[in-house]
Amino acid sequence: MQEVKVNLGDRSYVILICRDRLAELGAFIKEEIPRDRVLVVTDKNVGALYGEKVLASLKDAGLRAAIHSFPEGEESKNAHTLQGVYDALVDGGYSRSSTILALGGGVVGDVAGFAAATYMRGIAFVQVPTSLLAMVDSSVGGKTGINHPGGKNLIGAFYQPRVVFADMAMLSTLDPEELHAGMAEVIKYGMIWDEDLFATVADNMDRLTSGDWETLGPIIKRCCEIKADIVSRDEREGGLRAVLNFGHTIGHAIESLTEYKTYRHGEAVAVGMVAASRIAMANGMMDDIEVQQLWQVIVKSHLPYRIGNLDPRAILDALKKDKKVQGGVVRFVLPTRIGKVEIRGDITSETVLEVLEGMKE
Ligand code: NAD
Repeated sequence: MQEVKVNLGDRSYVILICRDRLAELGAFIKEEIPRDRVLVVTDKNVGALYGEKVLASLKDAGLRAAIHSFPEGEESKNAHTLQGVYDALVDGGYSRSSTILALGGGVVGDVAGFAAATYMRGIAFVQVPTSLLAMVDSSVGGKTGINHPGGKNLIGAFYQPRVVFADMAMLSTLDPEELHAGMAEVIKYGMIWDEDLFATVADNMDRLTSGDWETLGPIIKRCCEIKADIVSRDEREGGLRAVLNFGHTIGHAIESLTEYKTYRHGEAVAVGMVAASRIAMANGMMDDIEVQQLWQVIVKSHLPYRIGNLDPRAILDALKKDKKVQGGVVRFVLPTRIGKVEIRGDITSETVLEVLEGMKE
């Protein structure tokens, strides 16, 4: 069992990273949550695979628990699904001393976390991430929320979990495409923060994408350390935390433009990272060799790097609806080299359009 701490004063918590210890989940988390009831919120896929094991573990630890599940996928990250969680809480008589346990990928974590943030003005919340993306990114840091037809993650709250329990053994049932999508966020950490991590990932991509746990374990831990460090310094994205949005500005625009049906979140982020690095190159911020290095690692991860037949102008319009746009200015996180990024609000629409034109089929 490895531990990474997120330092946020009296809201500090630990991320527990382990392998094949799901049966001990209840014992690990029971000290962190009130001794009342637990509603396990999950999606149908993950619920079918791990729901019973999780319930058994909670019950063995003396916790009363029930399960609520909704259809899997980004298309479920909406007000209708959230209402379903509220209904389960109200109908089941859950109180202010109850806990929501999110069992699943980033979609489950975001929806369940927002339900926990808002039900009775906030109840305890535990993250049990089951996808690579959720283990390295979405389960840590307290961003919760749902999509709105007008844009991604437009409704949400900052709300920290009491504990994060990541059992890597659950990744063995993940589709390879989902593992690849999670790899996009791993590459992101290398690009924004840690060139050694980037090099390790680039050198070991075949092992990582074939699920070599010995290689993957330390990488998951390193990503959690980076995110914990950033979030501890800037919980509410007053400045530094925005670096985590590298690849996400154009990525979110692509996701919302394609109505969350064409690209997985990590895949859209991969395209967004390529676009951001090319914008940086067009502005003389980054040299061609490093842009190529990023591109190569994305190709090795079986991730997309083109916008296909999407219209660059439509992407630009969608960009302007992003919640991070301030006073009409789109702020891009752009690399200056591998391991370092800058935030820039002076990128012209012409540059963005030119780069996107060059990323068509
Ligand atoms: P996801 O939650 O849709 O999961 C992907 C698919 O994998 C789903 O079909 C799910 O059922 C399945 N799955 C998950 N774990 C599994 C397992 N162990 N075995 C078999 N199948 C499994 O997608 P995701 O990639 O995990 O998360 C993407 C979401 O995370 C997006 O909505 C994104 O906006 C959000 N996100 C949030 C943050 C944050 O800080 N809150 C950060 C990054 C991404």
